[in-house]
Amino acid sequence: STMPPLLSAIANAGRHGVLAKSAVVMERLGQVDAVALDKTGTLTEGTPRVTDVLTLPGARMDEGGLLTLAAAAEHPSEHPIARAVVRAARESGLAVSPWEVVDFASVPGQGVTAVVGGRSVQVGSPARLTHTGGPQAGSAVRNLEDQGRTVVLVLCDGVPAGVLGISDRLRPDARATVTALTGLTGRTPVLLTGDNERAARHLAAEVGITDVRAGLLPQDKVAAVREWESQGLRVLVVGDGVNDAPALAAAHTGVAMGKAGADLARETADAVVVRDELATIPAVVALSRRARRLVV
Ligand code: ADP
Ligand code: MG
Repeated sequence: STMPPLLSAIANAGRHGVLAKSAVVMERLGQVDAVALDKTGTLTEGTPRVTDVLTLPGARMDEGGLLTLAAAAEHPSEHPIARAVVRAARESGLAVSPWEVVDFASVPGQGVTAVVGGRSVQVGSPARLTHTGGPQAGSAVRNLEDQGRTVVLVLCDGVPAGVLGISDRLRPDARATVTALTGLTGRTPVLLTGDNERAARHLAAEVGITDVRAGLLPQDKVAAVREWESQGLRVLVVGDGVNDAPALAAAHTGVAMGKAGADLARETADAVVVRDELATIPAVVALSRRARRLVV
């Protein structure tokens, strides 16, 4: 072809299913020497399912009531956990949002709050909510986390009402992608997640990742990236969520998982995976390196 090598690399990346936003990005992809992967929606498929619905003493509602309340509060959120909760309510034949929902707010890496039919509802990380749920919630949470579940606590008017266990499938190409990226950079990728440590380690072990940073807020992901970059590493961050956007921006190169990913992640990233396959990432890193060899 008569196209300059980086431009034809962009076209090639496009055929692989990765949209690089500029020739500079195409070049930077080949320069990375460390990779940080988000968990939910990046290493996993991002379509988690609610596997457990447990009410707590003092809830004054049954499992159906708990799920209906949580789904109403989560309805405005685009987070994969929120989608799972709404889907579970729908699939259980429950009315989705039978009440008026006002004052919705979502805190990246933490959860959501809303006033649902006059009741103040919080759904989110047991480690991050103002009320950790008390001892009963604590043992239910640990039990589920030990099974590799993501766990969210539901508070109703400040009272712990229940816990939801959520499980997401690993992407079929996750392990091969980790292996390929290790081969390309000479370093095993690191896992960055807002989820609990137990669930994160469970999943990391399945793909061969040992360096796991869990319970991270969006700014903690940025701090991790800056730490590596201050050591002279050029970091590739791969993420899908609103919670990943600051790290995608801070990284040498940020790549967003496009299909189920948040708009903010897609907008902030330097490149977007439009075909929903993780293995496209090592492919375009290799592509970029080949193109650079032609340029220099
Ligand atoms: P990850 O880094 O794995 O993509 P996030 O940072 O998006 O995860 O979320 C971290 C944790 O915050 C979740 O495991 C959950 O406990 C809580 N959380 C975030 N968003 C929501 C939500 N919409 N509903 C309930 N919990 C949430
Ligand atoms: Mg994510």
